[in-house]
Amino acid sequence: MREILTGMALATIIFLAIIGVNVIPIIFILVMLGGLYFFMQSQGKIQFHKVRSTSNQVPISFDSIGGQESAINELKEALEFLLRADEIGHMGIRPLKGVLLVGPPGTGKTLLARAAASYTKSAFIAASGSEFIEMYAGVGAKRVRQIFNEARSRGKKQHSNAIIFVDELEILGAKRGNNNGHMEYEQTLNQLLVEMDGINPDEETRILIIGATNRADMLDPALMRPGRFDRQVQVGLPDKIGRKKILEIHTINKPLAQDADLDDIARATFGFSGAHLESLTNEAAILAMRENSQVVERRHFAEAIDKVIMGEKLDRRPAEYELERISVHECGHAVVSELLEAGSVSSLTVISRGKALGFMRKSPQDDQYLYTREEIQKQIMVCLAGALSEDIGLGMRSTGARNDFNEAWNLAREIVENGLSGLGVVGSDIPGEILYRECKSLLEQVEKATRQLLEQNMDLIWKIARCLLQEESMDRERFISFFEIKEQIA
Ligand code: ATP
Repeated sequence: MREILTGMALATIIFLAIIGVNVIPIIFILVMLGGLYFFMQSQGKIQFHKVRSTSNQVPISFDSIGGQESAINELKEALEFLLRADEIGHMGIRPLKGVLLVGPPGTGKTLLARAAASYTKSAFIAASGSEFIEMYAGVGAKRVRQIFNEARSRGKKQHSNAIIFVDELEILGAKRGNNNGHMEYEQTLNQLLVEMDGINPDEETRILIIGATNRADMLDPALMRPGRFDRQVQVGLPDKIGRKKILEIHTINKPLAQDADLDDIARATFGFSGAHLESLTNEAAILAMRENSQVVERRHFAEAIDKVIMGEKLDRRPAEYELERISVHECGHAVVSELLEAGSVSSLTVISRGKALGFMRKSPQDDQYLYTREEIQKQIMVCLAGALSEDIGLGMRSTGARNDFNEAWNLAREIVENGLSGLGVVGSDIPGEILYRECKSLLEQVEKATRQLLEQNMDLIWKIARCLLQEESMDRERFISFFEIKEQIA
């Protein structure tokens, strides 16, 4: 818009100059007007993208949100304050002004807020915390006022209540005094507190504020005190049943092959958020379409999982000698994993994807939330097996094991910090030096055991590695066939 106006003004000036009109006073006036415009914009009085008004969005119901049953129930309970406001007033109950949704990114917080608006037939006004933060003093506070005014006027027009949704609330509502004296942040937060206090239960339009954050610990305590955001709803990562429900929601419009079992896919996607799962179903359908397949098959989902976890396949191909090293490395991981837990390897590849030069994919497992020391040690052995396999098979290690080592170190920390190491019960303030020494000694012991296991199986690793070099990828059936041959010979 601004560009078009500038273009038109320039064209008019040139035209007037050509026909002989004195354009200097016109240019002077335009410059003055432009200056005034930019000043007012910087003060927040004119805004082209002020608030994400969402009246034209398709209404969404709680049924299209998967894996968040308890969050939905808690939220619905809070929404009673809007739906049964008269009864609540009659009973003398203080109305609820704010609900805070807390959880990791992509778990459906925005969806929940939108569904809350549909459920209560309220006007929905959405904004993100970052939209309130400006360099200029007073602008954020003005935007807060604007958004509340917009909620009131939209509610009035629609004869309904209004829900204001503020995403990334931690940006707008961070603890005061933490922003190196940046008064603008504090003014904005103060304005929000003032507006929340000013919500009047007797107003024609009742306003409910739904905030979303993944850092509730960063919020100013004043926001959390009773009378403001006094309901907190946890919106966590979905469990297996929840993941299946989300997969069902996002595959409802996609033709699935018989072999695409959503139960299996849900099992293989531990730790995925709703947004990950949505992206996974989309990627799988794209892969199927690229192959001109009429239906989305199991293998499309398997590849899409790799893509969501590791990133896009890369065209760059490492040199032959590097591929050999990658192959030995991945086979080290895979053989140790299979020996420690039969059935744990799903596939292997030396095709680069994202930052990984090759990778081993584990078989789907049921969600697990508690681990014993022995189980964590086995995970560490699998992590270390890649680099150690290079060491034993090729005479030295390479730089390709940094992530494995980091993961192994974090696992060792888990053992110590959970009181499962020789140190026994420890507190969260365990001195760094002691923690370091204990992790180091733990890793040395596990490294020894892993080396022993690899040395006993190096022939097998080489056989699989040579085959993987030729074929680039290997599924479970192919991988396990090498173990069967070994057993037969034995
Ligand atoms: P952020 O904290 O990053 O803003 P969010 O928690 O608000 O994330 P949404 O924006 O609600 O996440 O979700 C993003 C997309 O992911 C949705 O549009 C939807 O397609 C999908 N999605 C996320 N969670 C769910 C869920 N529980 N059920 C169905 N789809 C989901």
